[in-house]
Amino acid sequence: MAAWMMVIGMSRNTKKSERKGGKKGAGNMDEIARTIFAPIYPVIAKNILDRFGIASGVCLDIGSGPASLAIAIARQSDLMVIALDYDDEMQEAALRNITDAGLAGRIDLLCGDVHAIPLPDDSVDLIISRGSMFFWEDIPTAFREIYRVLKPGAKTCIGGGFGNKELFASVSAAMIRKYPEWEEKNKERMSAGNVARFREMLEETGIPHYEIIFGEEGFWIVLSKSEPGALAHREESEEIR
Ligand code: SAM
Repeated sequence: MAAWMMVIGMSRNTKKSERKGGKKGAGNMDEIARTIFAPIYPVIAKNILDRFGIASGVCLDIGSGPASLAIAIARQSDLMVIALDYDDEMQEAALRNITDAGLAGRIDLLCGDVHAIPLPDDSVDLIISRGSMFFWEDIPTAFREIYRVLKPGAKTCIGGGFGNKELFASVSAAMIRKYPEWEEKNKERMSAGNVARFREMLEETGIPHYEIIFGEEGFWIVLSKSEPGALAHREESEEIR
């Protein structure tokens, strides 16, 4: 294990679940993740692992919440997983779930914000994130940070989705029965208009290679990196030219 990973642990210096994405409380998200959403995580994990063929090294799950996707990835691969979230109540739920799953040695909790990821440049082999980017305040800054920590040759799978069309239908039906207001919110998140909005914000980052997978179960942003280091800011590179 790399030396920088030793510093990872539970930090309690963030505010409780008053932040975006944790508004309804970590308990609520944890309950949904362990019940209605439970079948989607192993399928999403398998889709990611099959698509990219990255099954060892370090995987970072951003906005990991109760760590359900991190747990599914750890179960299906040899990846060492870092579960990053800025909400300490989410991290407490994650710690319980990781311990219950017997995966304490495979998943490290890291308390931090996607806009300033507390990891070195070029240190992560696979970055995953589900259902979190819709809450990020500054998408270009967040994606520049993601690009910075990505190793050359590594990939991301960041977005929102339910694994496959059938799961999308069954999970949506269950969510709408329990939380009718969820339907509109989710429709908007998964809309072509929202995909276009994310594409525009990605253009702003100056990231040279990215792909958006927009399918029947959701949409995912795939970044690739060929050169090490962070991106030069647009203004800086324009000045150099
Ligand atoms: N990924 C988990 C899942 O699919 O079950 C949780 C999704 S939950 C809807 C969104 C998560 O993103 C919350 O745990 C929230 O605390 C986290 N989050 C939102 N904005 C964040 C940020 N700027 N940095 C880190 N985590 C963030």
